[in-house]
Amino acid sequence: DALAAMLGKWAPPSASAPGTAKKVYSADELRAALKESELINYYQPKVAVASGEVVGVETLVRWRHPRDGIVFPDQFIGVAEASGLIDDLTQTVFTAAMTQAKAWQEARLPLRIAVNVSMDNLASIDFLNFVAEAAAKEGIAPQNVVLEVTESRLMQDTRAPLEILTRLRLKRFRLSIDDFGTGHSSLAQLRDIPFDELKIDQGFVHRASTDETLRAIYDASLSLARQLNMEVVAEGVQDQEDWELLRRTGCDLAQGAFVSRPLLPEDVPGWIELWRERVRT
Ligand code: C2E
Ligand code: CA
Ligand code: CA
Ligand code: CA
Repeated sequence: DALAAMLGKWAPPSASAPGTAKKVYSADELRAALKESELINYYQPKVAVASGEVVGVETLVRWRHPRDGIVFPDQFIGVAEASGLIDDLTQTVFTAAMTQAKAWQEARLPLRIAVNVSMDNLASIDFLNFVAEAAAKEGIAPQNVVLEVTESRLMQDTRAPLEILTRLRLKRFRLSIDDFGTGHSSLAQLRDIPFDELKIDQGFVHRASTDETLRAIYDASLSLARQLNMEVVAEGVQDQEDWELLRRTGCDLAQGAFVSRPLLPEDVPGWIELWRERVRT
């Protein structure tokens, strides 16, 4: 169909040929890339499972490398964290996301916009001030900004980051716990953190309708989120069977290749029109 034609065939974003080692970039290369504005944001839609409504997008950074082409974040986020460039990177991504959110807002596409935040960003109160100011500058309400933090990192060391997250929550930013199921959180730990959204890791979503082990983790995550009053997002929804499972079990939101791969911002309005046609029929 038209939608499939437009999106092309999904290739796993970070796939490289078997046996090929992925290039790891140096901090100097990344620093130069930030300076030359080579980092660009893609946006992957999140849709409501029951209504099909497009609720928001997740910002996913890529490096448009002058020689190597499009480089995926698993090849440079680790370097950014290890070298202290992660604050600069997150601010660059966040600022561009707010500018984009404003443009969509003006085009009457009020999309909630999610940005990935590293635990290393949550070391100082400066981050909170930056986020609040950058959103306010573009007229984006905190309720429409989602900050995604990975579960595994969250449970490692806690105090200072948790305080900053709590303060962001008090300012009405939405907090999302990412890659849920990979980090061994306990109910007690989760109760202390004011999260609005829980994202079930894609490893527990695709094929969960036929694999008992995956299904058990999927069900447990869903029920935990329900008990803690969080909205649930299933990541990595790849086919009709995955989608039907979400419908049957009452999962709130879906994200993944079955809905849309990450898009360039200019492709988002056209995708929304095609998606609305697809859910109407
Ligand atoms: P994530 O936050 O869990 O993002 C989801 C990843 O899964 C994205 O990979 C997305 O392209 C991919 N994905 C989505 N749907 C499907 C699907 O149906 N099938 C498959 N095979 N993959 C799917 P991506 O863009 O390569 O990002 C990888 C990770 O890099 C992200 O995982 C996130 O942890 C990190 N990341 C991305 N952008 C940023 C950023 O701006 N800042 C930080 N700190 N981390 C980022
Ligand atoms: Ca994420
Ligand atoms: Ca995730
Ligand atoms: Ca992930």
